[in-house]
Amino acid sequence: MDTAQYVGEIRSQLSDGDVYERLQVNPTQVYKLELDNMIDEALHDGLIDTKLAKYLKVDHPVVPVLYTLPKIHKDLQRPPGRPIVLGRGSLCNKVAIFLDRLLRKFATSAPSYVRDTSDFIRSLEGVQSKMQFLDTCVYKSDGLLHTDLFVKHTDRNNLLHFSSEHPRRMVESLPWSQLLRVRRIVSNDTLVDKRLDEMCLKFLARGYPGTDLAGFKARALSKERVELLGPRVRALTDKRIPFITAYNSLSNQISGVIRRHWPLLSLGHANIQEFQLPPLLSYRRNRNLKDELVVSDIGSSKRELQTTFGRPSLGNFPCLNCACCNNMVKGASFYHPHTGRKYEIRKRYTCKTSFAVYVLSCPCGLYYVGATTMEVRARISKHKSTIRTRRVELPVPRHFHDMGHSVNQLRYRIIDDVPVLRRGGDRVSFLKKKELKWIFELDTLSPRGMNIEYQQSIFL
Ligand SMILES: [Zn+2]
Ligand SMILES: [Zn+2]
Repeated sequence: MDTAQYVGEIRSQLSDGDVYERLQVNPTQVYKLELDNMIDEALHDGLIDTKLAKYLKVDHPVVPVLYTLPKIHKDLQRPPGRPIVLGRGSLCNKVAIFLDRLLRKFATSAPSYVRDTSDFIRSLEGVQSKMQFLDTCVYKSDGLLHTDLFVKHTDRNNLLHFSSEHPRRMVESLPWSQLLRVRRIVSNDTLVDKRLDEMCLKFLARGYPGTDLAGFKARALSKERVELLGPRVRALTDKRIPFITAYNSLSNQISGVIRRHWPLLSLGHANIQEFQLPPLLSYRRNRNLKDELVVSDIGSSKRELQTTFGRPSLGNFPCLNCACCNNMVKGASFYHPHTGRKYEIRKRYTCKTSFAVYVLSCPCGLYYVGATTMEVRARISKHKSTIRTRRVELPVPRHFHDMGHSVNQLRYRIIDDVPVLRRGGDRVSFLKKKELKWIFELDTLSPRGMNIEYQQSIFL
């Protein structure tokens, strides 16, 4: 599936006038006023407290984006798209989370609610001949209802590979839980043996040792099916503190260190209940290739207006009309102050660019990374005046004073910016993030550069 096909699918879905309507203006701000009023009223009437009211209000709402997931089980060549609206950061995001939490306890008591496969099998009644639900197929035979494993024809063997870098315990316990699932679902005693073998073959193909699988299979067969179908009794969660990290190759060593030294806390602070048991080590999923490669917002199809003929020239250009033009370093690239790595500037900037990240440099080659929401020339003027007036409590004037540099030796270039956000959101916070990113990328914290600890310099 290529971009053109994807965009075509989205367009055809959006053109359905029964479902979607084209808006002339973005109504977000109007809705925001209404919603904020509603929240204020609820706060005033004592329905919610200040903390909740603050949580529910979204200061810089983003316009949600529609994307689709290809339904490859319908058609592999031209899969129809399942539409999804990504509402993260949108106006109603927090309200939706709040309502979902309130409604959850009612949803589970609705007659149509089916929690999982076991629940489904228990509640089966009056099936005609054959039907599927989740991973289960129900069929009639000899006047009785039977259940069998249901596998979609598009399913592939994508079980976690035995050599995967996932937590060892997770990889090793996977066959057991899957074989138990087969045992639970397949009701026919002769068929279950076949299905268990099929599952074992899948695991063999993914590198799992055969002897372990044979053991798991025998254990699964020895379990009574009725027992497995009973509602799962969860072990009471104890008072252990969860220790949550993203899993990586060092995780085992970290957990070893924690376990080895835990007695320091449990014996040293016998009066603190939480220290008596070692923490519960649990892992958050790391970013994977899909997270890196897949975006829900594929961007605008509109290209930026080109105002010059031929290839647009990139880099820094003086506006030729201000007192800071002379301090600007022209050009479309710059070098890392310590590693010498070359960076390309991929846009065109002038002294009048705003919402920008800039770099100051001095004759000894030290860098200072700053950001401003104003036109950069105004910010540079401020820097120059702090040097002239010897504001030595600030890092740049102090360095210029200490080293005897003159204000004319100050050089600057604009390296990055935050353009107007197409879908809304907090432009200032994006700028702050970019500034921080460049401070660490260019390694400009003192004494490696002229930045001292992160300052909120943007509003100056
Ligand atoms: Zn200028
Ligand atoms: Zn210097």
